[in-house]
Amino acid sequence: MKIIAATCAGISLLLLGGCLSARPVATNRPPVTEPEPGRARQPVWRGLHLLINGDADIVILQEQLPRLAAAGVNTLILEVGYNFVFSSHPELNAATGVTAARAHRLAAAARQAGIRLIPELDCLGHQSWSKKTMALLAKHPEFDETPGFFPDNAGIYCRSWCPQHPGVNAVVFDLIDELAQAFEADAFHVGMDEVFLIASDHCPRCRGGDPARLFARAVNDLHGHIVGQRHLEMLMWGDRLLDAAALNGGEWEYAKNGTAGAVDLIPKDIVICDWHYEKQAAYPSVPLLLGKGFRVWPSGWQPLENAQAFSAYCRRQQNAHVVGFLSTVWGKTTMDRIADWPPVAEVLAAWK
Ligand SMILES: [Zn+2]
Repeated sequence: MKIIAATCAGISLLLLGGCLSARPVATNRPPVTEPEPGRARQPVWRGLHLLINGDADIVILQEQLPRLAAAGVNTLILEVGYNFVFSSHPELNAATGVTAARAHRLAAAARQAGIRLIPELDCLGHQSWSKKTMALLAKHPEFDETPGFFPDNAGIYCRSWCPQHPGVNAVVFDLIDELAQAFEADAFHVGMDEVFLIASDHCPRCRGGDPARLFARAVNDLHGHIVGQRHLEMLMWGDRLLDAAALNGGEWEYAKNGTAGAVDLIPKDIVICDWHYEKQAAYPSVPLLLGKGFRVWPSGWQPLENAQAFSAYCRRQQNAHVVGFLSTVWGKTTMDRIADWPPVAEVLAAWK
């Protein structure tokens, strides 16, 4: 998880500290991305990823919109997940979740501030955190990839849903539709990061299956609905598409569980949020994903110099399919101070 990566980032800082800081930042990068066929030119995506727990967060965020816009932010990824009051599946509702009315008010204010809202629901993986099982599998344990196994989530990182359960997509698509409509979004982020439980021996449908094909099936099902049916753009995290052995990386930001082959089995109009939080001399996943035909949204975190190193590397690619930069927060500052947080304010300023 992103949080655990903080430990690795600290180690990396000791090993690689200063190796990139003196390099110049390219200044001749095209100011806009190349338009996709039939799609208008879009500005550089200067993004911020935020965890949203309920209406209280939305209220504070709405107050911050003018300051965020002044800092250069023009896109917000709102990881709402199940922290929403769903009308389609009230059994999943969070008591203090985001209401559709509040989401619409935020959408109006964001439009006025020139900020695009993209809601996120973690799909497939991240269906639990520590001992807490998230709403979908808590209320629909039949969708679980490992039903009845790992009580209290002991011995696993996070639960997954089964990509081959015949009932799961209908529910998930309803949730996606509600979130997209409430935030008046033209794009949706499906998460898909750090999926470790896939093709489990505990799943009667997936046992013995190819993790890459099963992962791609989940992506393609989501794409069929989000892009095919709803005509939204689709975004996802990139770690499961990256082969740890080929790229010489760890199991968090790269895959060691056989999913990486999915990179050749999914549509290329998905925007890949390629996250790296350690400071590295190079980030080979960026040219790899660009070479596959994807648009790439590099995603950094903290400390500032790590985010700046990744940002500078991506700018040096001088590739119009690098759509911008996404700053993640993961709880390291509070919502009311977000516009001033250096990994946001200073890194995104380079992309203006
Ligand atoms: Zn399964």
